[in-house]
Amino acid sequence: MSKYRGPVCKLCRREGDKLFLKGERCFTPKCSFERRNYAPGQHGKGAQFRRRRDSDYNRQLRAKQRARRVYGLMERQFRRYYGVALGRRGVTGLNLLQILESRLDNVIYRLGFAQNRAQARLLVTHGHFAVNGRRSDVPSLLMAQGDEVSVREGSLRRTFFKDLPAIAEDKVVPNWLSRDLKALSGTVLHLPERSEIDSNLQEQLIVEYYSR
Ligand code: SF4
Repeated sequence: MSKYRGPVCKLCRREGDKLFLKGERCFTPKCSFERRNYAPGQHGKGAQFRRRRDSDYNRQLRAKQRARRVYGLMERQFRRYYGVALGRRGVTGLNLLQILESRLDNVIYRLGFAQNRAQARLLVTHGHFAVNGRRSDVPSLLMAQGDEVSVREGSLRRTFFKDLPAIAEDKVVPNWLSRDLKALSGTVLHLPERSEIDSNLQEQLIVEYYSR
């Protein structure tokens, strides 16, 4: 599956908000958005003074783009997830967020085993993780309740993973996951409730966007 390869800070500036796509840097004065708080491009600076179109469509589009960029997905895959969410029982918007959260790369990021989702994705594709004891190099794998992800034995010898417990220690793990720092593993206790997912994501607007 293809992925966005351009500069990620541009995406924050385009959305007019910090999306925290880089990890530590996002919390320092080096953050691009702190220094250049306007849209990218030649006319970006002037754009903030121009009247922005405040249509329903624009709000729906921005909500969809924001979620897509936070999880690092291309349009086709994001739309496919919407289709899956629609086919599931329950509230489509929440279903969609649960699908996005249960991706293997996101779970690894939430467990604090990677600085950001892009790094988590890279670690997965390089084959450093196993799901329920079996090697998995598919970042889009959807994890279910009770599934366990762990760093593979061969990878534990690498410096990155040797240093990881000390780095991950400070990262707060959401309630829907449990983490074993010693073993570098984690388990999905249940799919996240709405209150356990980023409140800046506006799933209702995303549903409206795709229902047009
Ligand atoms: Fe966004 Fe992080 Fe870049 Fe700041 S440093 S613009 S929050 S990705």
